[in-house]
Amino acid sequence: MNILLTGGAGFIATHTCVELISAGHDVVIVDNYVNSQPEAVRRVEELTGRTIPHYEADVCDRAAMDRIFSEHAIDAVIHFAGLKAVGESVAQPLRYYRNNLDSALTLCETMAAHGVKRLVFSSSATVYGVPDEVPLREDMFCKGCTNPYGWTKYMIEKILMGVAQADPSWSVVLLRYFNPVGAHESGRIGENPNGLPNNLMPFITKVAAGQLPHLNVFGDDYNTHDGTGVRDYIHVVDLARGHVDACAYAAGHSGCEIINLGTGVGYSVLDMVQAFERVNGVKVPYVIGPRRPGDVDACFADPAKAKRLLGWEAKKTLEDMCRDAWRWQCMNPNGYTT
Ligand code: UDP
Repeated sequence: MNILLTGGAGFIATHTCVELISAGHDVVIVDNYVNSQPEAVRRVEELTGRTIPHYEADVCDRAAMDRIFSEHAIDAVIHFAGLKAVGESVAQPLRYYRNNLDSALTLCETMAAHGVKRLVFSSSATVYGVPDEVPLREDMFCKGCTNPYGWTKYMIEKILMGVAQADPSWSVVLLRYFNPVGAHESGRIGENPNGLPNNLMPFITKVAAGQLPHLNVFGDDYNTHDGTGVRDYIHVVDLARGHVDACAYAAGHSGCEIINLGTGVGYSVLDMVQAFERVNGVKVPYVIGPRRPGDVDACFADPAKAKRLLGWEAKKTLEDMCRDAWRWQCMNPNGYTT
């Protein structure tokens, strides 16, 4: 298939590009580089030995999107593009709702106009909100999100369900990601946060590298085995493979399916710190601090539906995640900026 990746220069998208190409697909990228760099696309080209058609454009720009669909026979789209910083979304709700909803709507309208009806969407476990129980299953009722970023994912899910319901020839897969970490084994592509990282693993790697003095552990009084928050960390290459399987599924089915992509195993913040220190032989100094507003005790997936529908399951270990994240950090101390 020829697959368009919106936000194709981002962390999960670049890894997905590599996996799609090695599975025999062709890819086209559109990205406005608001939170990514063209160098990431260049590195995917280097890893795959391919020239990848890529456009610097905003998915909200209908004329630019029409041009891409006119210039390429697109079979399916993976919609990665979107603003994704939780704290920023609380401070700038209108920007988040405008950008994330507008881009999803413009994309669907463009797809419909060009007769492209296969769509895989980057959703998030954040749509489960504060869960009553874990592991999280796709059929559980979502009681509400804790920030505007999460609400945009929730609302786009609802929009896409409506699209698939109104026209049963659409095929939509909503992938609810848990916590993607790690990097490609080559050390050439990885996570490249702007400024101070929000997420745990990039923060750990920057502390281990001496770029930040210590990790702030957000609370040690949660209802978990050591009091720190428990999450379902998944290697980004496993996650990327899930997209390849979701595209194959979308090609053979119609309707709309929600699918968790997680390992089903939860690790605490301190589990992650200890594993990182052990695997890489480095120190990660930390300080226990207050809870971060909106955080939940524990969040991990029931991954059974992904196995049943896609034949997918996570294969990489916690050691792989720690080792690959550290290799990326060591080989690229300043990310894609040389
Ligand atoms: N966390 C932490 N310090 C940090 C960043 C994260 O203690 O600097 C904790 C956070 O409270 C949560 C876990 O690490 O329990 C994962 O947080 P992250 O922001 O990576 O992902 P989330 O699950 O919140 O989307």
